[in-house]
This record gives sequence, structure tokens and C-alpha cells, in this order.
Amino acid sequence: MKVDYRSLLEEVYEEVRQDANEGKVADYIPELACVGPNHFGMALMTASGEEFGVGDYEHKISIQSISKVFTLAMAYELFGNDIWKRMDVEPSGNSFNSLVQLETEKGIPRNPFINAGALVVTDMLVSHFGDPITFLLDFISNTLDNRPININLDVANSEIKHSDRNKALAYFMKSFGNINNDIERLIEVYSHQCAIELSCAELAASFLALANQGYSIHSQKRILSKSATKRVNALMQTCGCYDEAGEFAFEIGLPGKSGVGGGIVAILPNQFSVAVWSPRLNPKGNSARGMKALEILTTKLGHSLY
Ligand code: GLU
Repeated sequence: MKVDYRSLLEEVYEEVRQDANEGKVADYIPELACVGPNHFGMALMTASGEEFGVGDYEHKISIQSISKVFTLAMAYELFGNDIWKRMDVEPSGNSFNSLVQLETEKGIPRNPFINAGALVVTDMLVSHFGDPITFLLDFISNTLDNRPININLDVANSEIKHSDRNKALAYFMKSFGNINNDIERLIEVYSHQCAIELSCAELAASFLALANQGYSIHSQKRILSKSATKRVNALMQTCGCYDEAGEFAFEIGLPGKSGVGGGIVAILPNQFSVAVWSPRLNPKGNSARGMKALEILTTKLGHSLY
């Protein structure tokens, strides 16, 4: 049966607008707090390339931790299973920037989507490329029919200025031999990757390969190996929303990845990718209305991964 995604998104938008817009915009990176708190956008792209959007779905957003999906995919394609020597694939059950497990687990982060794990991934890319940002932008651009990709330098510089926590994670892991590059350089690269800006429409399109067995909808070429597609999706399901990954699977039932800019991207294999943006975050650091919107979407749709 053909789903009327246009009406579905409009219904979700309508319901979400009636809900109290609770939560708080992230301000530990001060520049992120400059965003209007009441924005809402949602875009969906089907595996056959049809696009739908409501609200501010074309507004550029700070993708923040959603960038960790792109860097993980790049690192996995470059180094294969060797990357798991430097990090695990287990949910952390702790907040995204927690230090606690690193002590007992000897500098090996629980997974690539908490900050510690993402810093290790970026460290691998710095060692390989020297300047991985150009390659990262090309990687993303390749998923978007070669469209140019922008970094918000104010956001990047704001994060660099307020990066004590991420530096602490990096120095701590370095003391265990799990970071190889200069920490200032690592934080600079990591903060720039997080400050990439994409709209919901672009996020949905750039994640479509994960819903499309690794194939680009534009070129019909494989842009992710079969294995990377499987593993990245599995990690998004189990670790994509930090210590709320269980709740996300329970409520929404799709692999997804959130960022503190208020964006969340999720996919339903062979069906669609969907991106939502609402800057107010719940106490776990995930977009409060974004979670709600995705839950309404899969409930109305009547199916999810499960
Ligand atoms: N740049 C952010 C940080 O390192 C990303 C966190 C997130 O989006 O969850 O704190």
C-alpha cells in the first residue's frame, strides 16, 4: 500500500504544534543558544527519492553529533574492523560527555557516538588525512549530489573556546595511549565537524544511503559498503541517542542519531530517511519535540523496524 507521506508529515506537524514546547536550547556551546527556540522542521525522503517537508525543513541547522555518523562511516570504510580495537560497540548508559567509564575501561570508549568515541574516530581521521575536514565535506557532499557544504565558523570557534570537557576526555584517553594527535588540533577538527550545517531536507537526503543498502539515490552508485550500512545502523539503534537510546528504540523503533543542535535523523531500511529539528532539548540532550514528532510518525505509520 502506498503511504501518503505528505499528509502524514502534515498530521505530525499539526499534533506537535499543539504540544507544549518544553526543554532548553543547548548553551554550553554559547553560539548554539543564539537559535530561536521555537523552530520546527521535518523532512522525509523515500527510498525512491521522493522528498517531503514541513515547517523549517530547509533551514540550516548545526548538525553537532549527527556528524559522528559520517566520521564513523569514513573511518570504518578506511580501516575496517581495526577501529574496534580502540572503542567498543556497547551503549554507555551515561551522558554523551561523561568521563566515568574511561577510568575503569582503560581509555577505551564504549561506542563511537559518545564524545569520547567520536574523538577517537576523529583522531584516526587526523592521523590518516592530516586535514580530514575537506575529506569529510566531500564525503557528505557526495551523498548530496555534490552540493557544497558549509561550516558555521562562529559555532566552531565557540565550541573550541568552551571545550574543557572534550579536552579532558581526549587527554585522559591519551594517557592510555588511545589518542595519537595533538589535543588542540584534535579539538579544532572535532569542533569544525560538529559545526557543519545542513537542513533537515539535506540531512534526510544524506542519510538515505543508510536506508537504501548503501546506495546513493542520485548516482545509484554504492557509497557505503554493505557491512558499513549494517554496522552504522546497528550502532545508531543501540547508541545513537546516548543514555536515551533505549527510550528512542522503545518509542520510535528506528535507528537514529541526535545532536545538541536539536536535530535527529532516523531511517527505516528500504523505506525512508527522516530528519527533524527542534532546538529545545530534553534533560538527556535530545530534541524534546523531535523525539515526540518521530514517535507520532511511526505510530501513525503503523510500523517501524519492529
Ligand atoms: N559538539 C558537541 C559536543 O562535543 C556535540 C554533542 C552532541 O551533539 O551531542 O559537546
